[in-house]
Amino acid sequence: MIMRMSQLFVRTLRDDPADAEVPSHKLLVRAGYVRRAAPGIYTWLPLGLKVLRNIENIIREEMNAIGAQEMLFPALLPKEPYEATGRWDDYGDNIFRLKDRKGGDFLLGPTHEEMFTLAVKDMYSSYKDLPLSIYQIQTKYRDEARPRAGVLRGREFVMKDSYSFDHNQAGLDASYAAHRAAYIRIFDRLGFEYAVVKATAGAMGGSASEEFLAKAAVGEDTYVQCSHCDYAANVEAVAVRVPAEVDAAAAPAAEVVDTPDCATIDALVAHLNAAQPRADRPWTAGDTLKNVLVVFKHPDGTREPVAIAVPGDREVDAKRLEGQIEPIEVEAFDESEFRKHPSLVKGYIGAGVLGTENASGIRYLLDPRVVAGTSWVTGADVDGKHVVGLVAGRDFNGDGFIEAADVRDGDACPSCDEGSLSTERGIEMGHIFQLGTRYAEALGLKVLDENGKLVTVTMGSYGIGASRAVAAIAENTLDEIGLAWPREIAPAQVHVVAAGKGEEIFAEAERIATELDAVGIEVIYDDRAGKISPGVKFKDAELIGVPTIVTVGRGLTDGNVDVKDRATGEKAEVAAADVVAHLV
Ligand code: ATP
Ligand code: MG
Ligand code: MG
Ligand code: MG
Repeated sequence: MIMRMSQLFVRTLRDDPADAEVPSHKLLVRAGYVRRAAPGIYTWLPLGLKVLRNIENIIREEMNAIGAQEMLFPALLPKEPYEATGRWDDYGDNIFRLKDRKGGDFLLGPTHEEMFTLAVKDMYSSYKDLPLSIYQIQTKYRDEARPRAGVLRGREFVMKDSYSFDHNQAGLDASYAAHRAAYIRIFDRLGFEYAVVKATAGAMGGSASEEFLAKAAVGEDTYVQCSHCDYAANVEAVAVRVPAEVDAAAAPAAEVVDTPDCATIDALVAHLNAAQPRADRPWTAGDTLKNVLVVFKHPDGTREPVAIAVPGDREVDAKRLEGQIEPIEVEAFDESEFRKHPSLVKGYIGAGVLGTENASGIRYLLDPRVVAGTSWVTGADVDGKHVVGLVAGRDFNGDGFIEAADVRDGDACPSCDEGSLSTERGIEMGHIFQLGTRYAEALGLKVLDENGKLVTVTMGSYGIGASRAVAAIAENTLDEIGLAWPREIAPAQVHVVAAGKGEEIFAEAERIATELDAVGIEVIYDDRAGKISPGVKFKDAELIGVPTIVTVGRGLTDGNVDVKDRATGEKAEVAAADVVAHLV
């Protein structure tokens, strides 16, 4: 099927959309790939849908190659499974909730651990049924606090999510390794620069976790890389040794501010201003704490002083925390509450918003606790009745390391002794987790093992943002004049431009387009006649970003056409008669 510009459902725009700041967002709108329907919610036009489908197919091929089976869950989901795992509450404002006509509660799925777990529970009962990996490519919904950069951070977006089921840790290790290898093949094929970094498990719970980050200045993630070894980690997940007991003085590069009497945020702010004044302006409630160590008493006055180390330039972390902080009601302020709500572990240490206020007017102090190798950073409201899920640094395997640090360019590598760390920005493209038994336990997924004993199934979960990949790849490959797609995901391979008025030009362009199409090369053919000048056609071809542009124009009097490589700008004159053979 030749895509004829005279008929293709596309209108390119000369001007950048007013709401777009990121280059890929501007160009995807201007080139007619996507259109905004509502904030964070986008319509896929034919060209955009082709790119999205190409990406989905690469993912699909590589998932199938490791034996994962594709299926499809609904997006509209009942509340009960999410209530059983605690996520109905934990997600807070981040999920879309709705009611049916009978008043029953539903949600639009933000991710599907619960549903996959229940499906396996329904159908399987023996270790002999395992291992199993199943996946879907499906539309997800998250009411993001800050939808951003078009499809890069949408409120509706397409994710490939797969889940592995095993009856022991060795099995999970193997499933995780298979997914990791498949991810490397997928991201290699998608054709952009990326890094695989250690990550925190965040709202998902579980232990081992890695992210695949596309290198990009516009990315919202910061990661560190060692100059010497292959250590790389999201800054949220840099492993540091934690002292067995809280030792304020041992906190690296942090100053101690003793705030013995900070029962209110105002008192804490006043104390910070006295003991740790800022150079530029005074501390106020709502500020991001930077590189200070605050020691303060729990507001109820009965507790020991506790400490929080707050790191350097991480405005972005503080922003992310907004909307993620969800209070839970407790009788007494006690870290055991967090054990009941593991999903509240957000994996942050050291970035905090000073005295933030949530929608219900609860104001937070930050109150970290370190309990027997477990470091918690929590927030408590001033009446001590609410604690918030700003928790970090869980020492998952008891080796004395927590996944948290304040890292900067030049810091020493925590993995080798030789290297130093440098920071880079990236876009999270994929995330793989060893979930362990959290979901299987909450939902009762057990199988009989070799000895006829019931064991809880252990799971992995593996996500890729397919729609985000469209924007991230665009961002990675575009230039000043437009998009420049890698061949495997471009909406077509060749863009044929009929540049001129003569009938022979259109006839020859038509012939070339038809022959390319016949040998299986996808073609956009700019067959627009009338007032559309060759200049406008060139600009559109460059904006749309198909890898090869063939121009049939003046050269045809000598029997030649121009062949241009969109990405490198290289041009060649080729005999019109040979051009199809030249491009195959
Ligand atoms: P982020 O840190 O960017 O908010 P996440 O860690 O919340 O992402 P996961 O729960 O790990 O995301 O979901 C798996 C993948 O889904 C992510 O790696 C990302 O590629 C994609 N994704 C997540 N949120 C969005 C979104 N709002 N828009 C587009 N893609 C998304
Ligand atoms: Mg998120
Ligand atoms: Mg993330
Ligand atoms: Mg993630």
